[in-house]
Amino acid sequence: MTLANQMTYFSEKEQTFDKIILYMDLDAFFANVEIRENPKLAGIPLIVGGNPQTKRGVVSTCSYEARVYGIHSGMPISQAVKLCPHVTMVRGTYKLYSKVSENIMQVLSNYSPVMKIAGNDEAYLDVTNVVSDYEEARKLAIELKDDIFASEHLTCSIGIAPTKILAKIASEVDKPNGLTVVRPLEISDFMHSLKITAIPGIGKKSYIVFKNHSVETCGDLAKLPYQLVFQKFGKYGLKTWKLVNGYNIEKTDEKFTSHERKSISEERTFFNRYSSWPDIWVHIDSAIKTIVSKAKEKKMHFRTITLKIRFKDFETATRAHSLLCHETSEKQVREVVKSLLEEYNIKDPTHIRLVGVKISNLKKIDVNQRTLAQFFNKSD
Ligand SMILES: [Mg+2]
Repeated sequence: MTLANQMTYFSEKEQTFDKIILYMDLDAFFANVEIRENPKLAGIPLIVGGNPQTKRGVVSTCSYEARVYGIHSGMPISQAVKLCPHVTMVRGTYKLYSKVSENIMQVLSNYSPVMKIAGNDEAYLDVTNVVSDYEEARKLAIELKDDIFASEHLTCSIGIAPTKILAKIASEVDKPNGLTVVRPLEISDFMHSLKITAIPGIGKKSYIVFKNHSVETCGDLAKLPYQLVFQKFGKYGLKTWKLVNGYNIEKTDEKFTSHERKSISEERTFFNRYSSWPDIWVHIDSAIKTIVSKAKEKKMHFRTITLKIRFKDFETATRAHSLLCHETSEKQVREVVKSLLEEYNIKDPTHIRLVGVKISNLKKIDVNQRTLAQFFNKSD
């Protein structure tokens, strides 16, 4: 795409902010649930995830006291223990977390009918039609925080802004138990003070690229002429430049009302390093059952099935297969996953740390309309 094409997008739309979005993110979710269940764990460096005996696995969540040592989620336990030898580890009670998450999402849904759950501890609420201005939105957020604390004894951080991405960025600046409001006219000032890595999606690699051009803060980027930004950092750089300069970069179809599911997936992590094929298959099978029942619930048919496997060295591989036509059958998914698994040709199942199954290429089909396969094979 040429720069001229890009710049046609400096449209009125990008300068229009007509929504008020509230983003809620629970603070150190798993760790805080563990602390709630066992108050002796409060105030100390705490890791949830991995195996406390063997010190294997990865950090799922850690307490703020652990973060001080540089520990973060996704880090191998062995590395975390090196950073903080006296860290306390718990395995995690995932059934409890999902129950807590469900309850919290239920609380959130009372605050706006337009909601998007982004993970087990985070969700967006479009409160445009619930409040009349940002001050009311702030009061609503305080009420919501109290409500969450009353129902689950957990704290969260909230960001309120005209777009999802800004609301998410705002929620991060005052963690834990924070509340940050960014009104449309405040966007540039707010963004300029932040490090470039405050933008979701800008990780270590992109940071180095920016740093090589003396861009460390969003303000540094904002000051550069957009032509230069496009030349040096491409279209994503330009998108980031627009974001830090207070343009609305959210596409209409990314907004809530037209939000549609593109895939349904489930992952299972193995905390036990002695996993056997039957163990692994039990997990794969339960993931398949869950995604197929979710698809049925939403009256979605699928065509593509993907199997993801992560090994103990964190290497992750995915393989996918597309069916000839849209399907709903659990049996079909199982057969495809079995053959994909064979393609990996894994000699030692104990090397597997995670399996994930995804169905995508989704299509909403009338319930009365039978799929081709169902037509020929009445067994399903
Ligand atoms: Mg969180």
